[in-house]
Amino acid sequence: MDQHYVCTGSCNMVSDHEKNCDSEDCTHKGQPLVACSCTDGNHDEAHKRAGTGLEV
Ligand SMILES: [Zn+2]
Ligand SMILES: [Zn+2]
Repeated sequence: MDQHYVCTGSCNMVSDHEKNCDSEDCTHKGQPLVACSCTDGNHDEAHKRAGTGLEV
C-alpha cells in the first residue's frame, strides 16, 4: 500500500485521499485523517504522528 490516510480515532477509517473523518460515532469525527505510508496495515506511522498513544 502506498501513501494513505488513516483516522486515528475509534473508527480506524483508511482512505486513499486526504479528507476528514465522517464516521458518526468516531472519537475523531470531523478531524483530518493522518497521512501514513505503512506496508503492514498497522498504521504505526499515523498513530505516532497523531500522538494518540493508542496501542492495540
Ligand atoms: Zn474516525
Ligand atoms: Zn498505514
